[in-house]
Amino acid sequence: MRAAKETVVAIEYTLKDDQGNIIDASGERGPMEYLHGAQNIIPGLEQGIEGLAAGDTKSVLVPPQLGYGEYSDKLIQLVPLSAFGANTPQVGMRFHAETNLGMRVLTIKKIEGEEVTLDGNHELAGKTLHFDIKVVSVRAAELSELSHGHPHQSGGCCGGGGCGSGEGSEGGCCSTEGSAGGCCSTEEPAAQKQGGCGSGGCGCS
Ligand SMILES: [Zn+2]
Repeated sequence: MRAAKETVVAIEYTLKDDQGNIIDASGERGPMEYLHGAQNIIPGLEQGIEGLAAGDTKSVLVPPQLGYGEYSDKLIQLVPLSAFGANTPQVGMRFHAETNLGMRVLTIKKIEGEEVTLDGNHELAGKTLHFDIKVVSVRAAELSELSHGHPHQSGGCCGGGGCGSGEGSEGGCCSTEGSAGGCCSTEEPAAQKQGGCGSGGCGCS
């Protein structure tokens, strides 16, 4: 079976930047599973995997517009320190907030006096992504997976490690749930698109 719409694909991958630095890798957390054609992963990677079968390896180059988008100055905003109330903001902190572009993960970039600079760009925005992938398996998706828009593993869509346990970014794959991380882990493999694990949360039943 080959990777196509309505298949569940598992891949191992290493992601590097233009300088060859490793940004993310499936490594010890095992293969990443996703539902092909359901926007679980960034478009450039999905296009690169289309048509591959288990055992295939490939290098996939993903430009920003097919990855996490171009870096946009419009997503930088200044807020007063007082907006944080009793919380003490620190550079590097990430949190969810409603913006004029919808719910986004914001990162605190800078704190100067009473002014806090927030950045709503994805940490990989503007970057060309170099993936080395190996397809581990391809199978037909179950009906429930198609209706939910994400793969199910042992323990539901939040079990088994497919839906997170990756590197640092808060928000997880179930970021449509207001609380950081939603029902899944608070972390998100770089290859997994934010919100990938089912808009509307993954209350699989
Ligand atoms: Zn589900």
